[in-house]
Amino acid sequence: MPSWQQITYSDQINADLTGSVVTIGGWVQETRNLGGISFIQLRDRKGIIQVTVLKKKDPALFKDITAIQRESVIVVKGVVKESKEAKKGFEVLPDEFEILNAAESPLPLGVIDKVGADLDTRLNNRFMDLRKESVRAIFRVRAVTLEGIREYLSDEGFLEVSTPKIVAAGAEGGATLFPIKYFDKSAYLAQSPQLYKQNLMASGVDRVFEIAPAYRAEASDTVRHIAEFTSLDVELAFIESSDDVMNVAEGIVHASLKHILKKAGEELELLGVDLPVPEPPYPRVTYEEAIDMLHSNDMSIEHGDDLGTEGEKLLGDIMLRERESELYFITQFPTSLKRGTFYAKRDDRNPELTGYFDLDYRGQEIVSGGQREHRYDVLVSQMRENDMNLQSFEFYLKAFRFGMPPHGGFGFGIERYVQKMLNLSNIREAVLYPRDRARLIP
Ligand code: ATP
Repeated sequence: MPSWQQITYSDQINADLTGSVVTIGGWVQETRNLGGISFIQLRDRKGIIQVTVLKKKDPALFKDITAIQRESVIVVKGVVKESKEAKKGFEVLPDEFEILNAAESPLPLGVIDKVGADLDTRLNNRFMDLRKESVRAIFRVRAVTLEGIREYLSDEGFLEVSTPKIVAAGAEGGATLFPIKYFDKSAYLAQSPQLYKQNLMASGVDRVFEIAPAYRAEASDTVRHIAEFTSLDVELAFIESSDDVMNVAEGIVHASLKHILKKAGEELELLGVDLPVPEPPYPRVTYEEAIDMLHSNDMSIEHGDDLGTEGEKLLGDIMLRERESELYFITQFPTSLKRGTFYAKRDDRNPELTGYFDLDYRGQEIVSGGQREHRYDVLVSQMRENDMNLQSFEFYLKAFRFGMPPHGGFGFGIERYVQKMLNLSNIREAVLYPRDRARLIP
């Protein structure tokens, strides 16, 4: 068995290698046996290479190689030859081959079948689903997205940090907490790094970000909620208002979209995605204006109501039609809507309003954040208003008594972002192994 260093990828086979002996390895995608000649399409991570076997050259090898089950893993050593019929213009004529792992039959999921399997079957057999180039492309785009985000934030002076995912207190309300047993104590899976990233604002490191899983026991089964998602969390200090926070969110989106166009063009093409990169600043409409816009488009919604999935969707259509924008902020959420529950800074002139914002992309919220309350007394009174047990938040509160600068930040759902940019109908398409009410395996 040759080592991976000796294996030539399908895309490395070119005219220079004609007549040379190469070793190729991968999955047997298809075998077409015409009696005296057989064609095997061997797939590796880079594409397909044809293996052409002549019966009269070696009848024993012909018999064995044509009997291999589809999707088995083999390595083949043979000579490269140019071929007009082969899709890539080259074929390999084998001298020897080895089956590294034979696939059972029938397959749990077709790899090249024209009829698409349902999402559940695909997710139950994710390793097989990922053998499709178009499925792998989603995860390459996701990786390039994160690369672009990291590059931008690091250039802007943000420090990447990691905070605990096993925590004693939740930040986003009890309903979506996952309780766990922690030795002889009870604990929770972190819903967000909120309390920690704020804590770090008192540390002298005044710009941080984290990319990590966040856990929410979401009661409803929707195409945009999962129980474990990847949250990009950003926090920065010495801000004047939520506008400073929005500028960062906007910068991340713009830089990462540009990065994706530059680095994942092939994947976008494969997925049939045309990805516009809107130039900032992105339009900003207040919550009140958004409600009025929905009203005048015949939606029955009251001032003070949550926009909900339908409202967000309709607003997306309106913003595209009237402002030609797929990305826009909704600002100044009312305090009653509990954006940023207890930690949001309220408007000094009108405490009914916060500076909290959402950033929506094609009619769906992808980011939520704003300026936080950094004044200890005000924070405590907001926590009391929310009936919170101050003692269990002492570690958080303490940092506000010893020099806490004004600060703000946001949570940015990576899978929702990928979902929207690639027009995926379900967020689960952008997660390798999604977790939801029904799904714990694989
Ligand atoms: P929603 O109102 O859509 O349920 P939220 O207001 O609970 O979201 P936040 O707590 O503000 O969400 O979280 C910030 C971001 O994290 C959201 O804008 C979204 O992109 C992402 N997010 C939150 N919950 C989930 C989830 N269950 N699955 C996937 N992404 C999520």
